[in-house]
Amino acid sequence: MLLDNKLCMKIKILGSAAGGGFPQWNCNCPNCKGLREGTIQAQARTQSSIAISTNGQDWLLINASPDLLKQIRDNPELQPARNIRDTGIAAVLLTDAQVDHVTGLLMLREYARPWPLYTSPSVWEDLSTGFPIVSILSHYCGVEHRALGLDGQPIDGLEFLSDVRMTAVPLKSKAPPYSPNRDKPAVGDNIGLWMENLNSGRSFFMHQAWEIPKSTSPDICVKRMWCWWMARCGKKMK
Ligand SMILES: [Zn+2]
Repeated sequence: MLLDNKLCMKIKILGSAAGGGFPQWNCNCPNCKGLREGTIQAQARTQSSIAISTNGQDWLLINASPDLLKQIRDNPELQPARNIRDTGIAAVLLTDAQVDHVTGLLMLREYARPWPLYTSPSVWEDLSTGFPIVSILSHYCGVEHRALGLDGQPIDGLEFLSDVRMTAVPLKSKAPPYSPNRDKPAVGDNIGLWMENLNSGRSFFMHQAWEIPKSTSPDICVKRMWCWWMARCGKKMK
């Protein structure tokens, strides 16, 4: 899905469901059951993830869901086939360390070089200890960690997103159940991403938290939805 051409950014919603997808595999709420039985008008959804590009060739993958391989198959831009081994994904950024946002990294293990991986320091800690996915990946392609600053400064190293200024915004949300931060939150357990197009002045905010700062008022705001929460896809869309 291309959300907004005027933003001069290509924003692909690869998936918009919570952990478990929609219909959630073990859920028989009216929505999940209704979709299976064809009694409601709805669309199956994979677990939440988006990809951003400005040139249509190099994509920043934001969160790597367990459904990533299907999402790549469904979005040919992510597999441009320029070489025998190829991908349109140029780098990966994680907004938190939740299982449904990071497990897809394991599906990217055949990459020919270490993945540029942007995370906050606390997410990196969780993925190095409680759920040591980056340690596992070190036996395959590995990752090149790029720590996200949480001081309001733009993220460095995303030159392939020309004319876009992206900033990590710490948000209040719980760390994953396996994290030592679950009951004592740390700044950076969950971030939103503020993106501004420097040419058009338009902005986009992507987040996974229940609440965002009141001062945040982007042109487009995207939030994942939950299986029982069909309509909530953003507080404001133009
Ligand atoms: Zn359900």
